[in-house]
Amino acid sequence: MHVAVLGAGYAGLTVARRLERRLPDDVDITVVDESDTHLVQHELHRVIRRPALREVITVPLDEVLARSEVRKARITDVDTDAGVAALATDDGTEELDYDYAAVCLGAETAFYGLSGVEEHAIPLKRLEHAGAIRESVLAAPGGEAIVGGGGLSGIQVAGELAALSDAESLDLDVTVVEMADRIAPGFDAAFADTVRAELEARGVHIETGATVESADDDTVHLADGRELGYDTFVWAGGIQGPAATGGDRPEVRANLRVGDTTFVVGDAGRVVDEAGEAVPAAAQTALREAKVAAANIRKLVRDGDEGGEDGFEPRLDTYRYDSPGWVVSVGDGAVAQVGPVVMSGEPAKAAKAVIGAGHLGSVGAIGRASDLVRTELGWPSADDIDLPAQLLALSHVGRLATLSDPASPGDIQYPLAGAGLAFTDAFAPGSVDLTPFTRLADRNFPDGPASHVGDALSTGIGLFGAMASGSGTRPESDDGEEE
Ligand SMILES: Cc1cc2nc3c(=O)[nH]c(=O)nc-3n(C[C@H](O)[C@H](O)[C@H](O)COP(=O)(O)OP(=O)(O)OC[C@H]3O[C@@H](n4cnc5c(N)ncnc54)[C@H](O)[C@@H]3O)c2cc1C
Repeated sequence: MHVAVLGAGYAGLTVARRLERRLPDDVDITVVDESDTHLVQHELHRVIRRPALREVITVPLDEVLARSEVRKARITDVDTDAGVAALATDDGTEELDYDYAAVCLGAETAFYGLSGVEEHAIPLKRLEHAGAIRESVLAAPGGEAIVGGGGLSGIQVAGELAALSDAESLDLDVTVVEMADRIAPGFDAAFADTVRAELEARGVHIETGATVESADDDTVHLADGRELGYDTFVWAGGIQGPAATGGDRPEVRANLRVGDTTFVVGDAGRVVDEAGEAVPAAAQTALREAKVAAANIRKLVRDGDEGGEDGFEPRLDTYRYDSPGWVVSVGDGAVAQVGPVVMSGEPAKAAKAVIGAGHLGSVGAIGRASDLVRTELGWPSADDIDLPAQLLALSHVGRLATLSDPASPGDIQYPLAGAGLAFTDAFAPGSVDLTPFTRLADRNFPDGPASHVGDALSTGIGLFGAMASGSGTRPESDDGEEE
C-alpha cells in the first residue's frame, strides 16, 4: 500500500506527519514537493524587512518527517481516476502511482489576464519574491510602492514596506489598491477598520473601490482612469489553482475527497464545509482540513473502499469551518480578532508571534519557533543576554513542546505562548525564575505565566491559547482515537 502526499506546505506537512504516526509501518508514504523545505508562508512578508528570517521560516523536510520518502520534484499532473501523479525531476519525468493521495499543492498568484500585471508586478508566494520586493524598494529611495490587493497578504506587505521605509530611511510612499469598498474584504468591518487605521497611522495610503486594469513599466492604470506611477509594484490580488490541476481550484466537499482515492486539502481546492459554507483559503483552514484528510486516509487504508469487517464503507470525517479568529501583522504592530473582539497593540503582536511559533513547534521545529518569537517580539538574542539563562529557557520550550501532541498545532500553542512569556521572566535582569516553567505545563494553573505581564497581554494570549485549541473538525472516530 502506498500513500502519496503531494505538496508539503501547511496542509501537506500536517497530513504527512499525522499519517506517519497513524498508518501501519508497512504502508509506504511518499511526500513530494518542488522544494526540500517547508515554508511558513504566512510569515513570508516579514522577509522583505528582515532577510535573516528566511532561515527561521524554512524547515528542511527531512528534519521534520520521520519515515516518509521525501521526493524533490515538480508535480505536473494528477490523474485522480488512475491514481497517478506525473513528476518532473532533474533527471526527467516519471510517474508516481498511489493507492491514496492528498493533493496539497497550495495556490498560485492569479493575474486574471490583466494586461502587463504579471510582467511588471512582483507576487509574493516564495522566498525569492520577498527578496525581489526588498531589492526593488531599496533601489528606489523616495519612490512609490504600489500593493495591488488588500487581502491578508497585501495588508501585511504594505505594513512591512512602511516599516522597512522607516528602518532604512527610504521615505517610500506606500499605497494599497483594493477593488472592494474596504481592505480586508471578507473579514468583519471592525477588523478591517482597525487594520486600515493601523496602516494609515504608519503612513500607508489606501485606495478602495479602485480596480487595477493594467500596468506598464512605471504606471498602474486603474479602471476609473487614474494612473499611479510606481517604482515597486507588488501584486497580491488573488489566487488560482496550481498548474498541476490546470490552474483550477476544484470544489471539494467537506470530507475533502475527490474521486475514490484522492483528497484535496488547503488552498489547492475550494472547500465547502459540512454546513455548505465556502471555506477561506488560509493557513489556519489548511491545517485543520489536513487533520480531517489524514483521518479519512487512515480509515480508508484500514477498511478499504469496500469497508471493513462489516462490509460498509467507512464513515468519513467532515470538516466544519470554525475560525478561532484572525491576526495580521502591520509592520511592528498587529491586529487580531477573536470572536467579536478586535485587538491591536501588544496582545495582537504576541498572538501573531505565538501562532507562527505554534506552527513551527507543532512540526517539531522548536529552535525556529523560539527564534521566531524572539525576533517578532524583539526579545534579546544570545549575544545580549546571559547564555546559560537562554539555554535553560530554550530547553524548557523544547520540553514543553514535547509535552504536547507534536502534530497538533492547537495543542501546542498555549504552552508555547506561556513559554514565550516565561522567556520574558527568564531574561529579567539578574535571575531565572523556574516557577513559571513548571506552571506552564498545566493549562489550568490558576495563576499561569500570562499573569506575569499584565492583564492586557494575558487576555490576548489566553484567548488565543484557548481558541487555538479548538480544532474546527468534527471527529467521528469510531475507535476512540482523537483526531
Ligand atoms: C504574505 C502572506 C501572508 C499570509 N498571511 C496569512 C495569515 O496571516 N493567516 C492565514 O491563515 N493565512 C495567511 N496566508 C495564506 C496562507 O499562507 C495560505 O493559505 C497557506 O499557505 C495555504 O496552505 P497550503 O498547504 O494549502 O499551501 P502552501 O502552504 O502554499 O503549500 C503548498 C506546497 O506545495 C508545493 N507545491 C506547489 N506546487 C507544486 C508543484 N507543482 N510540484 C511540487 N510541489 C508544489 C509548494 O512548494 C508548497 O510547499 C498568507 C499568505 C501570504 C503569501
